Amino acid sequence: MSFDAEAKMQFLFALRSKGVTDTVVLNAMEKVDRGLFVQGYFNDRAYEDTPLPIPCGQTISQPSVVALMTQALDVGPRDKVLEVGTGSGYQAAILSQLARRVYTVDRHKRLVQAARAVFDALELSNITAFTSDGSHGLPDQAPFDRIIVTAAAEDPPGPLLAQLKIGGIMVVPVGQSDTVQQLIRVTRHEDGFDYDELRPVRFVPLVEGLGKD
Ligand code: SAH
Repeated sequence: MSFDAEAKMQFLFALRSKGVTDTVVLNAMEKVDRGLFVQGYFNDRAYEDTPLPIPCGQTISQPSVVALMTQALDVGPRDKVLEVGTGSGYQAAILSQLARRVYTVDRHKRLVQAARAVFDALELSNITAFTSDGSHGLPDQAPFDRIIVTAAAEDPPGPLLAQLKIGGIMVVPVGQSDTVQQLIRVTRHEDGFDYDELRPVRFVPLVEGLGKD
């Protein structure tokens, strides 16, 4: 399958019908070929609005969920963004179109290496990917204008809240891993945090410590 004009039209139509209205986000989704992030057997289904398996028992999120989370994050061109949960690298590649700099971390080294290879092939030079436990954030690069977590936590992790700038936004799925979770948007103010519930979602769990591969 190639991301030709016909595939793009259907892909963007599905996004709009799910409530993606931000043209900057839609342009990024049109520009980055999801097929490059889905390897092997499932590559044929890369342009369907569905999550798909990736190595290490993880999933590449559904495109409409990627787009809606990106839209909720309200990223600007000067922003430094942290993504926890690199997975295939697709969400980071979308963010790289909107932000100044993207840091992305995953607990699986194998996923980080594969994602880096795609970032290099696409010359996405404003993304830095690390193998680390993202529940601690990335203290060396903090604070961040925006933080996106693409694995479900029981609560927004404290270190991530602490690494968010005043005025910053974090989008994170919250809830038990095998039930429906709520996507939450956290906004940091001078004197605390505001929490908005956005929509029900389903993500793999945020797991502490590094993966074995
Ligand atoms: N954003 C990805 C999909 C993420 S799937 C994409 O666009 O393809 C969730 C990812 O979170 C998995 O790859 C999993 O390994 C990672 N993850 C889970 N717990 C983590 C943790 N504590 N630190 C870093 N990554 C974690």
